[in-house]
Amino acid sequence: MIARLPTAKGCAALHSVNDNKGYTGRMNENKHIPIKRIDQAKAAGMAHFKEMRALNPWMDSRLVSEDLNKICNANASIKSKLTKMAAYADRIAAAIAPHAACKSGCSHCCNIAVTISGAEAEMIGAKIGRKPATVLQWTSSQDEQVKKYHNVPCTFLVAGKCSIYDARPIACRLQFNLDDDEFLCKLETKPVDDCIPMVDLRHYWKNLSKLTGSTVITDIREFFM
Ligand code: SF4
Repeated sequence: MIARLPTAKGCAALHSVNDNKGYTGRMNENKHIPIKRIDQAKAAGMAHFKEMRALNPWMDSRLVSEDLNKICNANASIKSKLTKMAAYADRIAAAIAPHAACKSGCSHCCNIAVTISGAEAEMIGAKIGRKPATVLQWTSSQDEQVKKYHNVPCTFLVAGKCSIYDARPIACRLQFNLDDDEFLCKLETKPVDDCIPMVDLRHYWKNLSKLTGSTVITDIREFFM
């Protein structure tokens, strides 16, 4: 099974996990966090995932994939498809949010790598009235970016809040910690990369990547400095 690497928002890197019908709870040994606490997060994540799925049966990966395929295969511009993908991300986010530890005012995940495509950077730029930098190719590997931007505030984080909230990247819309609290997100507990329980949205990322894969994919800070 494969799933999105949870250390970078929306990143394209995939690696092995043992998931359970849409739940990503990769739990490795971590020198900084007691194993007992990690097990607790796994249990909390699974419980919250089940609650979310019971209330939102449409979140079945096959049904979501059908919807996403329709969006991505439509005879429309990338911009139009991306807009629909963002709206679908909001629908998914609305289903997950009530079951997540993430709360308004929390900005932990605005201090890690945030991966977006050139196509999305253009769309965000048009919405906020800023032209993104031209990035011709990856400037560093995914792993390097994860390290480079760990504990580095996003360009758009102002006084602990997202200053482009309505235009924020899809990756930001879909980042949720299904634990009971923010403990594993706290930067001082790093590296927590593989410990945060998340919903497995690989079908979403796969479709998004098909749509935008021809454009450069890199960190948001490289498009907007
Ligand atoms: S775009 Fe907004 S939500 Fe996304 S990481 Fe930056 S500040 Fe946070």
